[in-house]
Amino acid sequence: MRGLAILGSTGSVGVQTLSVVREFHDRLKVVGLAAKRSVGLLKEQIIEFRPKIFHCESLPNYDGSKLSSSSIPCSMDEMVSHPDVDMVVSAVVGDVGLRSTILAIQSGKNVALANKESIVIGGQLVSELLKTSDGEILPVDSEPNAIWQCMRGEDKKVSKLIITASGGAFRNYKKSDLSDVTPEEALKHPTWNMGPKITIDSATLMNKAFEVIEAHWLFGVPWENIEVVIHPQSMIHSMVEFVDGSVKAQIGPPDMRAPIQYSLLYPDRIANNSLDRFDPVGTGCLSFEELNQDLYPCFDLALKIAKLGGTWPAALSGADEMAVELFLSRRIRFDEIYSIIDEALKSHDPVLDPDIEDILSASNWAKNQVKSLAEV
Ligand code: MG
Repeated sequence: MRGLAILGSTGSVGVQTLSVVREFHDRLKVVGLAAKRSVGLLKEQIIEFRPKIFHCESLPNYDGSKLSSSSIPCSMDEMVSHPDVDMVVSAVVGDVGLRSTILAIQSGKNVALANKESIVIGGQLVSELLKTSDGEILPVDSEPNAIWQCMRGEDKKVSKLIITASGGAFRNYKKSDLSDVTPEEALKHPTWNMGPKITIDSATLMNKAFEVIEAHWLFGVPWENIEVVIHPQSMIHSMVEFVDGSVKAQIGPPDMRAPIQYSLLYPDRIANNSLDRFDPVGTGCLSFEELNQDLYPCFDLALKIAKLGGTWPAALSGADEMAVELFLSRRIRFDEIYSIIDEALKSHDPVLDPDIEDILSASNWAKNQVKSLAEV
């Protein structure tokens, strides 16, 4: 029986993780649930899954009596290092996820990681920790999960990673149309069902840049050997080219429960009849297009910044987090997400060999910088 702590249990990936757990009660047990502010849903989850411990950030003093009489309230730190937890599922949104990812690895836990910001901002730090820890990172996000599946048993004879991108909500728009798109339009992802922050990041392709950064750190592949192609059907989740020119692709209907299940049950593959199967004839055409840089300026900007290292990626991620929040609350336009991040980062004063505090303070600095630029 594998004991899970699910951080961000009321968000999109958290809810889908619990739906996988429902199918595998004989193998997976929920030990801990953590949520930010969806108290009602957390309460329902506690009643159904009866975790030993829980954490709710918006309830001061861990006022657990309101939520549960059977489960014990605890801090996030206590949860990720709890002896009954074998695997931490990190499905929180944003840079705040880094602290628990690091603590989980230091505690020797495996981390099923959906919180890609942890790796974007702390890639170097996390890679160093993994060298001396018993814990591993099992990527939940569909693209790194696909790469991981393709690389399994291949002894790292990789020559190139090809990461696929749906192109997001505005793939067929002209650049000039992007100044007056609404949050509602941007939240309509063409193929995936995901939370709001990642859906906006998909529309700007910031999400894809984050996945390149994530793949660079998780799989140790040089920047120049990672390629991104637009693949509107989202059936091929990514590909790996090997030194002999052979390419493996991982294919399946776009449903997050599939990569979540792979991570939770790794190394086992077990039938789950609640998931749709890939139907080649029914799917018809699988197509690929070059990425239109003009339409997605965030993509280039993000990679340029990430390659600078130090606290630069943390500043990038923090700036993006705030810019997306401001767009969703209609304080800036969609095309201003790029310009405000670009402007904010111009005054970043980087730390080149940062620890976790430097990283989180660079992220917070960038959030405040973007916020104050929006108020001008
Ligand atoms: Mg993805």
